[in-house]
Amino acid sequence: MARLVMKFGGTSVANMERIRNVAQHVRREVEAGHQVAVVVSAMAGKTNELVGWVNEGSKLYDPREYDAVVASGEQVTSGLLAIVLQDMGISARSWQGWQIPLLTSDAHGSARIAGIDGKNLDEGFKRGEVAVIAGFQGIHAETGRLTTLGRGGSDTSAVAIAAAIGAERCDIYTDVDGVYTTDPRIVPKAKRLEKVAFEEMLEMASLGAKVLQVRSVELAMVHKVRTYVRSSFDDPANPTPGTLICDEEEIMEQQIVTGIAYSKDEAQITLRRVADKPGVAAAIFVPLAEANINVDMIIQVTSDNTTTTDITFTVPTADFERAKTILEGRKAEIAYGALEGARDLVKVSAIGIGMRSHAGVAARAFKAFAEKGINIRAITTSEIKFSLLIDAAYTELAVRTLHSLYGLDAA
Ligand code: ASP
Ligand code: MG
Repeated sequence: MARLVMKFGGTSVANMERIRNVAQHVRREVEAGHQVAVVVSAMAGKTNELVGWVNEGSKLYDPREYDAVVASGEQVTSGLLAIVLQDMGISARSWQGWQIPLLTSDAHGSARIAGIDGKNLDEGFKRGEVAVIAGFQGIHAETGRLTTLGRGGSDTSAVAIAAAIGAERCDIYTDVDGVYTTDPRIVPKAKRLEKVAFEEMLEMASLGAKVLQVRSVELAMVHKVRTYVRSSFDDPANPTPGTLICDEEEIMEQQIVTGIAYSKDEAQITLRRVADKPGVAAAIFVPLAEANINVDMIIQVTSDNTTTTDITFTVPTADFERAKTILEGRKAEIAYGALEGARDLVKVSAIGIGMRSHAGVAARAFKAFAEKGINIRAITTSEIKFSLLIDAAYTELAVRTLHSLYGLDAA
């Protein structure tokens, strides 16, 4: 009997009617003879509300209590779905993270999964029960405290449970029917992808596509969990397959570019006339790392072995002021001439495994941007993607331009 994990996001369990609809999807798979573990998120908006209350309670809240509060959203939906399934005559029970147990690190608020003991779930399957699992939450073994996996973490719960119970696949149900070549709100001609490779999906999620939590894709890649992104809004009796995220070997027709992603809220900092000597990059970036500021693109002008050089890098807009303050505080030590900054930038990226074997892919984008008058502020590349930093005002034009340039527009 094949095992299956079905995960339902917040909009899929937003109210009792939606939960009944989820139960219909579960029923279909149970009737097809599967052993089913369902992983649920909190009702749409619930986690934000809980986080809001925590912040109202105290600016300096105890992160262990933050987890005690925010984990509750998933407790509610797991119990409710079990009740509705039972009402339909399907044997089911809810499982909280600590009951499984799903063990995690003690990094409260963004804990990492340390291990999952599948034994209790196995027993449930033997009794013919659907396991309805509260996503997003776990327990730290030593302290016995509740933990949560970071926002969007129930995707990661689902993939990790699929790996732990040896599920044939993990279906992630959401409010869109798959992964698209880009954001369909910007490009109406965006197409749903039938398949996308783990590595490509990892880049897309990291570079701004919001369908899946990045960690869930990492886990799926490591454990080779075949994962589908599909819609809970489809007719439960006749659903569409969605997008399969799988090993690249499974993908026959490899495009050069598979998708275009963008991430907003990027800010740029440039340090002019930095001393050109060993240790300067460390003097800049170590303090930023210690302040937990995530530095992304870094560009250093090649020095001509004279005295000074320029260094430019990007940080999330939310960290821009903090980064500036830290660097201004160390002006004497780093010894730079001037600090310049720009906000309201966006990073537009093209992703595709086919780039490994094709030259000049990014060069075509440079030319197309030049023709459209879009100025490129910074460029980074890797084996399977390139990213261009531009002014946010050009986001839509840039995404559309790349989408048609690489032949992704639907006919
Ligand atoms: N409810 C949690 C959140 O909103 C986890 C999830 O939905 O994946 O972040
Ligand atoms: Mg989500």
